[in-house]
Amino acid sequence: MLPWQMEVKGRPENLVIVGSGPAGYTAAIYAARANLEPLLITGFQRGGISGGQLMTTTHVENFPGFPDGVLGPELMDLMRAQAERWGTKLEEADADLIDLKSRPFEIEANGRSIKANSLIIATGARANRLDLPNENKFWSRGISACAICDGATPQFRKEELAVVGGGDSACEEAIYLTKYGSHVHLLVRSNSLRASAAMADRVVANPLITIHWDTEVVDVQGEEWLSVLNLRGLKSNQLKSISVRGLFYAIGHTPNTELFVDQLMLDARGYLVTEPGRPETSVEGVFAAGDVADSEWRQGVTAASSGCKAALAAERWLSSKNLANLIERKSVEPPQAKRPALTQVTTESNYQPEAIWQKGSFALRKLYHESDRPLLVVYSSPSCGPCHVLKPQLKRVLEELQGKVQGVEIDIEEEQEIAKQAGVSGTPTVQLFKEKDLKNEWRGVKQRSEFKEAINILLGE
Ligand code: NDP
Repeated sequence: MLPWQMEVKGRPENLVIVGSGPAGYTAAIYAARANLEPLLITGFQRGGISGGQLMTTTHVENFPGFPDGVLGPELMDLMRAQAERWGTKLEEADADLIDLKSRPFEIEANGRSIKANSLIIATGARANRLDLPNENKFWSRGISACAICDGATPQFRKEELAVVGGGDSACEEAIYLTKYGSHVHLLVRSNSLRASAAMADRVVANPLITIHWDTEVVDVQGEEWLSVLNLRGLKSNQLKSISVRGLFYAIGHTPNTELFVDQLMLDARGYLVTEPGRPETSVEGVFAAGDVADSEWRQGVTAASSGCKAALAAERWLSSKNLANLIERKSVEPPQAKRPALTQVTTESNYQPEAIWQKGSFALRKLYHESDRPLLVVYSSPSCGPCHVLKPQLKRVLEELQGKVQGVEIDIEEEQEIAKQAGVSGTPTVQLFKEKDLKNEWRGVKQRSEFKEAINILLGE
């Protein structure tokens, strides 16, 4: 008997896809349309945020079908909606453990053990850090890995800022930051930009950006907040300092393959090795798609295309092994895709004292002063991908608590004064108040359970 023919208790999933970037969602769309009812584990914190790197991008101008460009998070919302429309099941969690030595494969996510006959790995890559001596001290106090998420925070307004890197991300971020800062220094370790010509031309032509060639960052300094960068000229070996209030990293990525060490073949840089031009990995029934197996092209559209190939290959493999358990659809036409609803800003005329979730400073003031219930405030900005991920999670927590706690969303671009008063230094920031006292604060994306636990403690007091 072959390993995949062994009998197992409980029906395994046909196909589990790990990762929710363009590769993961495209694989899901194809597999779901093949009636395989795939389960997609979105990822949450491990190795970046769900939705992948496009969640921290502003305008994507090279994804076909969007002649005027599309915001990265919006594109990912559309892909997700398309995958769900065709019956993809989503598990909004990190995969904590993947065992490819047993068949069916075993995956642990969200405390659940999942069995899968086949697997598509689309776990992408995460942003690198410089590991400067003072990096931890100034992390979120001037240093950020995501200009798109944090650029709008009050501390960076009309201040000098710096971006390190010379690729498309660095160029895009430098241009983006000129919207907020007074001037942007682009710190490039070589004497050329690696970015696409269109992007590089924009940077070179922008009078608000100064490029420092052959330059490395040695360390950062400041008091409470970053104020000085120590730089070294790589050709001259001369040290110099510049005054900036923000340093943004855009120095490339590392593939998220830790879970596969000693299980799958990896190359010297940690990328998954597949059959040339194909999605098959070194273990039969395991396929790879997107940046996790691509150190060269790393585009949204190449990731999507490899997701398609991986799903078709998985479908063929499952059929050839007689392992595909196809679902029967109730209707040949699936329902229309669900799009995330936008929250309208609350004003005097539409304010609802009992509402679970509202938006803007009017609702914040009213609830802060008049409500006796705990109040959860999330500070976000329109292009912040992590905020996009976090807000539905917070809404879910508040819905589960059936109105015992209320939530307000503050757009820090619109409400700069409030963000300043609240000491917000990046988005998303979440604050939990009870009777006007700040009880908890979180920065970045956290698990639902973390918020729930803190709220339940407050409710029990
Ligand atoms: P890249 O790997 O393309 O670029 C990384 C940059 O960081 C390089 O310039 C590299 O320098 C520099 N770097 C690496 N390590 C260090 C270090 N320790 N100190 C200083 N500098 C360092 O990464 P990106 O994130 O920019 O892009 C990844 C992929 O995503 C690319 O394929 C890109 O085209 C794509 N992308 C596309 C966008 C778009 O089309 N809108 C937007 C953003 C990304 P060096 O050149 O010397 O190696």
